[in-house]
Amino acid sequence: MTKNILVLPGDGIGPEIVAEAVKVLDKLKADGLDISLDEGLVGGAAYDAKGHPLPKETLAQARRADAILLGAVGGPRYESLERPLRPEQGLLTLRAELQLFANLRPAILYPQLAEASTLKPEVVAGLDIMIVRELTGGIYFGQPRGVRELENGEKEGFNTLVYRESEIERIGRLAFEIARKRDRRVCSVDKANVLEVTELWRQTMIRVANDYPDVALSHMYVDNAAMQLVRAPKQFDVMVTTNMFGDILSDAAAMLTGSIGMLPSASLDAHAKGLYEPIHGSAPDITGQGVANPLATILSVAMMLRYSFGEAVAAERVEAAVGSVLDQGLRTPDIAANGQPTVGTAEMGNAVVAALNA
Ligand code: NAD
Repeated sequence: MTKNILVLPGDGIGPEIVAEAVKVLDKLKADGLDISLDEGLVGGAAYDAKGHPLPKETLAQARRADAILLGAVGGPRYESLERPLRPEQGLLTLRAELQLFANLRPAILYPQLAEASTLKPEVVAGLDIMIVRELTGGIYFGQPRGVRELENGEKEGFNTLVYRESEIERIGRLAFEIARKRDRRVCSVDKANVLEVTELWRQTMIRVANDYPDVALSHMYVDNAAMQLVRAPKQFDVMVTTNMFGDILSDAAAMLTGSIGMLPSASLDAHAKGLYEPIHGSAPDITGQGVANPLATILSVAMMLRYSFGEAVAAERVEAAVGSVLDQGLRTPDIAANGQPTVGTAEMGNAVVAALNA
C-alpha cells in the first residue's frame, strides 16, 4: 500500500533543508519505494497564511498521513504573539493530538566528524546511542500544577510527577523492541532512590524485561547517567527515561556529537506512525543564506523508513549515502573544521542523491 508522507517545511531554514530531504524521497520513489507526498502549513508560516500555527486543514492532513516530515518552526517575528498562536504551540499541539508518546533521539557521531565534539575524539568517535524519552506524560503534563498564594502572601509553584504503569510499560516495550534491532542493551534511567514514581518506573521496567530475555536491562540514577554520558558515553546502547530526564539527557547527548545539524529525531504513536524532524530549530541567524546543513533532515527520512515503514534496507541506504558524502569531504559550514572548504545546502542534498545512485 502506498505510504502517504505529509511534508511540513515550517519556518526559517525549514523550507531549505526539507527541500533537500524531498529530493532524497523523490529519488527513493523513482527507485520503487511506494510513497506519495503531500505538503502542509505549520508554525509561523501557517500563522501568516491562516492566522493559526496549526490550521484545521494541517491537522486533518496529519491524521490522514502515515508519517510526517517536519523542518522547524519559530522565529523572532513570532515571539511577541500570545502563547496559543506561537509557532512552537502548533508543534506541541500536533504531537499531543497524534498521541506521539515516544521520542527517539539518536546521538550518533560519524567517525569523520570526531573532531567536531568538545570531548576527546577517543571518548566519542563512533558514538551511537539511542535515547527513548517518554513524551506525553510525567511532570510536564501532570495535574495539579500552578502557582498559588499561601496564607502569609508568599507564592508557591507546584507541578506533579505522575506515571501510570501502562504509560511506563508502553515506552519500556518500545525501548526493548528498538534494542533488539541494535546491541540488545537497555539502560533505564530513574531516580528510584528518591521518587516513588520512578520506583514504580523501575519495577515496571523489570517486569517488562521478562518478555525480552535476549535484551540486557540495567538501571542508572539520572545524576549518575548525566555524569556517565560525558565520562564514557560509548557504554550506552538504548537509554529509556521519563519526559523531563529525557529532555535534559538527550540534549546533553546531542552536544557530545558537536554537530546539531546532523541529528534526526522521531516521535511515534502506538502504531508506528511518526513525526520526523531534525533536533535543531529554525536557525534564523542563517536563514536564506543557503548554508544550513540538510543532513539531520535527510537522516530523519532514514528514521521514517526504519520506524514507520519497516524499510530497514532503504534506511541503511540513506545513512550510507550520508556517510559517503562525509567520506568525500563535503562539509556545510557547521561541520567544517577550521579552513576546510565548505558546500551549501543544495550542493549537500544533491551529493546525497548522487551517492544514492552510486
Ligand atoms: P536553533 O537550533 O535554531 O539554532 C542554534 C544554532 O545552531 C544556530 O547558530 C544555528 O545557526 C545553528 N543551526 C541549527 N540548525 C542548523 C543546521 N541545520 N545547519 C547549520 N547550523 C544550524 O536554536 P535557536 O536559535 O535556539 O532557536 C531558533 C528558533 O527555532 C526559535 O524560534 C526556537 O523556538 C525554534 N526552535 C524550534 C524547534 C523545532 O522546530 N522543533 C526546536 C528548537 C528551537
